[in-house]
Amino acid sequence: MTAKIIDGKALSLKFLDDVKKKVSKGKLGLAIVIVGKNPASEIYVGLKEKKSKAIGFYVERYNLNENVKQDELLKLVNELNQNNKINGFIVQLPLPKHIDENLVVDSILPHKDVDGFTPVSLGNLVNDNNFLLPATARACMELIKSTGVEIKGKNAVVVGRSSIVGKPTALLLLQENATVTVCHSKTKNLKEHTKNADILVVAVGKAKMLKKNMVKKGAVVIDVGINRTAFGIVGDVDFENVKEVAGFITPVPGGVGPMTIAMLLDNTLKARELRKGLKF
Ligand code: NAP
Repeated sequence: MTAKIIDGKALSLKFLDDVKKKVSKGKLGLAIVIVGKNPASEIYVGLKEKKSKAIGFYVERYNLNENVKQDELLKLVNELNQNNKINGFIVQLPLPKHIDENLVVDSILPHKDVDGFTPVSLGNLVNDNNFLLPATARACMELIKSTGVEIKGKNAVVVGRSSIVGKPTALLLLQENATVTVCHSKTKNLKEHTKNADILVVAVGKAKMLKKNMVKKGAVVIDVGINRTAFGIVGDVDFENVKEVAGFITPVPGGVGPMTIAMLLDNTLKARELRKGLKF
């Protein structure tokens, strides 16, 4: 058996087309804040900026020095919270060690939190009150749904429990009535769990760690990982090997990555809708 490839790029273009139709040029504002010169962050931010401009967003980008004081960053967050031209904004993570990342994220106005990382956004997700959901978790769900495989009642396994990917994806799968197992670095016999998954999401950050002997025949496999190797960017799933047993599989690049950007831009549109109901 050879898995069907889930084309994240093509799916992302469909979403972006939809967002584009709802945006009149320059009327939807996204701000992107980046601190320091983390090469991976610079690539992600560059892609987000390019895509959002291409579909007609008004974009403000702030490049802050690696040594910026925490107070200065908090001041900028506060200004963006109050800036009427900005519907939503992101502070690209990770931040330098001298900055309290949680404090910065907590300072983002939840109605402008298009990354879906604030405690209010994550709390709403726990309460099944979805509004601004973490973009990568949304991306995983849309990619799974695009296969047409029913989620209800299936065994879903998420490998990785970060607050920005693993945990929110597990909660969204639970909302769709999957039976969800979350694995992490202390999980014993990882293979026993993954082998039981009808739907398998891998978000670990270890190149090609998931092999075909860990995958159930016909499973939907979503690879979130982005790992830089001497041979280029690869996922957490050994794609060539796992595609022999999986039913559906996302490639890296071209799977979760482009869909994450599409979900971020769709969240910005949602943030504008949310704001219409509020007085501030
Ligand atoms: P993270 O915060 O480092 O979390 C990694 C998770 O993997 C942790 O929960 C860790 O367990 C678990 N883990 C580590 N080694 C393991 C092992 N051997 N077996 C099982 N679990 C293990 O990473 P993240 O932010 O969630 O990102 C994960 C990957 O996705 C990275 O490659 C990142 O670059 C990529 N990513 C891609 C996108 C995209 O748009 N495509 C977006 C975000 C992230 P513990 O909790 O026990 O430490």
